[in-house]
Amino acid sequence: MLKIALSKGRIFEDTLPLLAQAGIEAVDNPKTSRKLILDTNQDDIKLVVIRASDVPTYVEYGAADIGVAGKDVLMEYDNDDLYEPLDLKIAQCKMMVAGFKDADIPNHRRLRIATKYVNITQRYFAEQGRQVEIIKLYGSMELAPIVNLADLIVDLVETGNTLKANGLVPLEHIADISSRLVVNKAAMKMQHEKIKDLLNHLGKAVAAK
Ligand code: AMP
Repeated sequence: MLKIALSKGRIFEDTLPLLAQAGIEAVDNPKTSRKLILDTNQDDIKLVVIRASDVPTYVEYGAADIGVAGKDVLMEYDNDDLYEPLDLKIAQCKMMVAGFKDADIPNHRRLRIATKYVNITQRYFAEQGRQVEIIKLYGSMELAPIVNLADLIVDLVETGNTLKANGLVPLEHIADISSRLVVNKAAMKMQHEKIKDLLNHLGKAVAAK
């Protein structure tokens, strides 16, 4: 049995056409079904539908053999116990520092950065020797500078429309982001042929896009 972990929404929708080209099609519809393990047209392949940030955990512990996770989630998880053999080139965007264009950056206290990516933010500013205070939020980061909760934010930017609508601009580029295929290390050994075959098909589907 091969279990593939996916998160609902964009990753699910963008991954399904790639899986279809590898001959794997969901039988249950994730939009209407409340099932968390979805059947596919292949008896020995199931899709596990979980939160995006849980995908690396499931795959690291072997609760899923394979997963699809954003590079942002993988950078934040920051663990070498997963193989990351393929860039699926979906859900592409950038991890940016953003804020007001001419922000008054205070010098009497540490810079305050609002983000849900605490580890990435910590590493990025530490590498530059900049002392910051990180404020963990779970969503709507763009609000934080407006209500004076933070000086800057670290978040994903795709079109830039959300920043613009809130009077903010991208200021510093941290990383290019896209969704990656991750594979459990033991599964890669135990189910080598099956996984290699799937990787081959998916690689071709990505290249053909
Ligand atoms: P945009 O307005 O197109 O720049 O999109 C920015 C908003 O969408 C922010 O709230 C981001 O957190 C979110 N976002 C952008 N790209 C992605 C992505 N690939 N995955 C998840 N969220 C994203």
